[in-house]
Amino acid sequence: MVDQETAPVRARTIRPPRDLWRSIAKGWSGRCPHCAEGKLFRAFLKPVDTCSACGEEMHHHRADDLPPYLVIFIVGHIVVAGYMLSEPFVDWNSWQHLALWIPVTLVMALTMIQPIKGAVIGLQWANYMHGFGGDEDDAVEIYGGR
Ligand SMILES: [Zn+2]
Repeated sequence: MVDQETAPVRARTIRPPRDLWRSIAKGWSGRCPHCAEGKLFRAFLKPVDTCSACGEEMHHHRADDLPPYLVIFIVGHIVVAGYMLSEPFVDWNSWQHLALWIPVTLVMALTMIQPIKGAVIGLQWANYMHGFGGDEDDAVEIYGGR
């Protein structure tokens, strides 16, 4: 049983709603989900620590494995469907299919991974997840690091 006198109390505040789809769209386009002016990425998949335009802290994000999972899910469905739909119309051997579908897979994955990671960060920002609301992330408290 938790002692109500000594139990840590977490302040609950009413937060203004953030536009989810606008934040996802700004993240998708590589812009800060807060101000839409500052760049979200300082390298291909490395987000900035803070927005250069508005100062919003971006180091809170925990996109982790979701962007690659979504890329594999989307690209896999498109490439496998493309392969299977093309099979009745072309008389190609396996090497010819590989010569087409491997580059298609690589190009699609490399062009989608950054926008999807930005969209995931925008989603987390809009929902005040992982410290975007000013609170410490529970995972940081438990594991002591990022
Ligand atoms: Zn900003």
